[in-house]
Amino acid sequence: MPPSLHADTNTGRFEGLKGRLCLMALLAVVCTLLLATSTISASIEAFRKAHAGAGNMRQFTAIFDAANFISAERGPANNLMTASEPKRIEARLKWRDVVVSTDVALDELERRGIPDAMIDDVRARLAAARTLITAIGQQPRDGRRYQEIHAAVDAMFAARDSYRRIIEWQSGEILRRDPDLATIVVQGIALSDLREYAGRLGSYLIAPMAAGTAVTPQDIAASSVARGRLLEVWDLVGPRSALPVSDPIRLKRQEAEDTFMRQGLTLIDEQMAIGSRSGHFSLDGVNLTRRYVALMQPLGELRNIYMSEIVSQFETREREAQFALYRSGLITAVLLMLVLGLVAAVQIYILRPLLRGAQAVIALADERPADLVSARGEVKEIRRLYGAIGILSHRLGERALLTNQLEILAATDGLTGLLNRRALEGQAAAVAQDTAQYLILLDIDHFKSINDRYGHPFGDTVLRTTADLMRLSAGQSGCLARFGGEEFALLLEGGSLAEAACMARKLRTSIENSPLKAPDGAMLTVTASFGVAGGAHLPWNDILVHADAALYKAKDAGRNRVRVFRAPV
Ligand code: GH3
Ligand code: MG
Ligand code: MG
Repeated sequence: MPPSLHADTNTGRFEGLKGRLCLMALLAVVCTLLLATSTISASIEAFRKAHAGAGNMRQFTAIFDAANFISAERGPANNLMTASEPKRIEARLKWRDVVVSTDVALDELERRGIPDAMIDDVRARLAAARTLITAIGQQPRDGRRYQEIHAAVDAMFAARDSYRRIIEWQSGEILRRDPDLATIVVQGIALSDLREYAGRLGSYLIAPMAAGTAVTPQDIAASSVARGRLLEVWDLVGPRSALPVSDPIRLKRQEAEDTFMRQGLTLIDEQMAIGSRSGHFSLDGVNLTRRYVALMQPLGELRNIYMSEIVSQFETREREAQFALYRSGLITAVLLMLVLGLVAAVQIYILRPLLRGAQAVIALADERPADLVSARGEVKEIRRLYGAIGILSHRLGERALLTNQLEILAATDGLTGLLNRRALEGQAAAVAQDTAQYLILLDIDHFKSINDRYGHPFGDTVLRTTADLMRLSAGQSGCLARFGGEEFALLLEGGSLAEAACMARKLRTSIENSPLKAPDGAMLTVTASFGVAGGAHLPWNDILVHADAALYKAKDAGRNRVRVFRAPV
């Protein structure tokens, strides 16, 4: 069995280029998605961490802000407790303001999810301290006692100490969620403590100053503990610490070093030195507070800058992670589109043109025209393929022409240009069974003697002339052939035996009445004898035998006549 051009015998799913391409595209899509998933999940994780970090740090900032308010409440409180009559109203108003600020900051912590019990504890301690401060503030200047003021200052310290639980709890929460934040948490606490210890150094002097008494040995000891702690913390976050910091932090740290660490501590040391000897301070509580609070300012600012920098660092990381997420998504989408585009391009530029090429080759094999117009959009290789198919088509066309010519040659008699016997029999066989067909056979009379007398070339001329005469007489009716030697045949389709006999007589007359000029100049009359036979539903062989028999009879009867074969009734 010849190979089929029409059907692809490969039935496997991934046998074809399309199948393999789809398989590879699927693999590429899966790999891209796997790659994208890992990149995207890394970006999501980075984003989540940065987002949580920024939130944690904002929370921590709020915690420190509240701590700072509690610490900062001591300044105006000290003023209120030490101010003399005319300044007292103003001092009370200022203190009220900071009390409100502290309470607002604590309310904010409640909203931020700090356990109520811890806040309530701080509030209770603050309330106790404030009650003492209010009471002292209402007493006349001279009536204020060292012990009461000392107790009020201690109560404020206690309130701030109780707040430490909130800081610790929040630090624990943050570190539990992200242990990487340890350094930041420690630094934040250190910076917050710095402000607290600095404030305490001033507060230890308030009671002695207000009461005009010497600083007690216990307070000197407590003050020097706070001072030592402050210096420790400063070692941790100050200019001598090894932690890398930004320019604004470095500048602010320098400012804190220049103002607080030098002038602030000097101020405290001077007053403490005086206070350790007697109650005759060179400053009163209000002036000390005013000067000291101003010198402490950079410490609070340092913590603020530090925390806001940390928050903005996390926000930057958050944005970067978000950007990386979008970028990964975009790259994934582009890669997927490229893969799909590649499949589509292969489909459009290779597979479909290949199929068209295959159809064209099939058409050529079926001897149909190959409808293959090489479009401009076709890729170079496909244009080459189409070009090759074009060449094949051209060659097949030439071959078909040649075959056609050979077929004509094979069917034609070379001498007369009429059909040969084989071709005529082919025509006879093609006539439908129920259609009547008639055969007129003719044989030139005494042709051998023409040959003998005038030579073969003249004999050929006689043959050609006879053929021409037959063509002329038969016209479009029937199929003329040289049957062999000097015998000719006219095959008629349809009509009747009488009409065929009539045509035979017309041919005979035409030949007889067309003398030829012989090579010796004499006019030569050529004659022929005719046998006619045929009808419907007759086998070709019978017709041929009958016509031949009739021709034989014509010869026998003296030649130059027509004999019709009639079947015996
Ligand atoms: P009859 O009247 O009985 O038909 O006699 P005849 O001479 O025509 O018949 P015969 O069969 O004896 O001779 C036929 C001759 O035709 C013999 C042969 O040499 C000649 N012949 C056959 N083919 C050709 C041809 O192509 N050219 C020429 N010049 N002669 C041919
Ligand atoms: Mg003969
Ligand atoms: Mg003859």
